[in-house]
Amino acid sequence: MNIDGVNTGIVLDHIKAGKSMMIYELLGLDKLNCCVAIIQNAKSEKYGLKDIIKIDGDIDINLDVLGYVDNNITVNIVKNGDLTRKVHLELPETLTNVIKCSNPRCITSTEQGIVHKFYLADREHKIYRCCYCDSEYKRR
Ligand SMILES: [Zn+2]
Repeated sequence: MNIDGVNTGIVLDHIKAGKSMMIYELLGLDKLNCCVAIIQNAKSEKYGLKDIIKIDGDIDINLDVLGYVDNNITVNIVKNGDLTRKVHLELPETLTNVIKCSNPRCITSTEQGIVHKFYLADREHKIYRCCYCDSEYKRR
C-alpha cells in the first residue's frame, strides 16, 4: 500500500470505483481542515479499478458509514509515516444518523430532531430497515 503524502492519518483503500465521492460526503470530509486526497480509477490487481482516499490528519472516522457503503474497503491507519494498523470492515448491525427514511409518513419525516436509526434486516442482501416504520432503505 502506497501511503505517500500521509504522515499521520488514514488511507481508505479498495473503494469501489466511483464510490469515493459518496464516502467523502457521508464522512463529512469536506468539513475537515486537514489534507484530503481522492484518487479515482486507480488500477487494482484484485478488483479492477478502485478509488482511494487519503486523509492526512489525526482524526476519527465513522467506520459504520464505511461498512455500510462497502465492507470491502480496507482502512489503513498511519502513524508517523508508518502503516500501523489495517481495519477490515463489517456491515454494521445498526446505523444511526447515516441514512434517512424516505417514507413520508414516518415519524422521522414528520417530526424534527429525531435520530435516524436503521437496523440490518438481511445481511446477505445488505438490506437495512427503518427502526420506526420498518421501511426498507433503497440504496442509491
Ligand atoms: Zn421510517
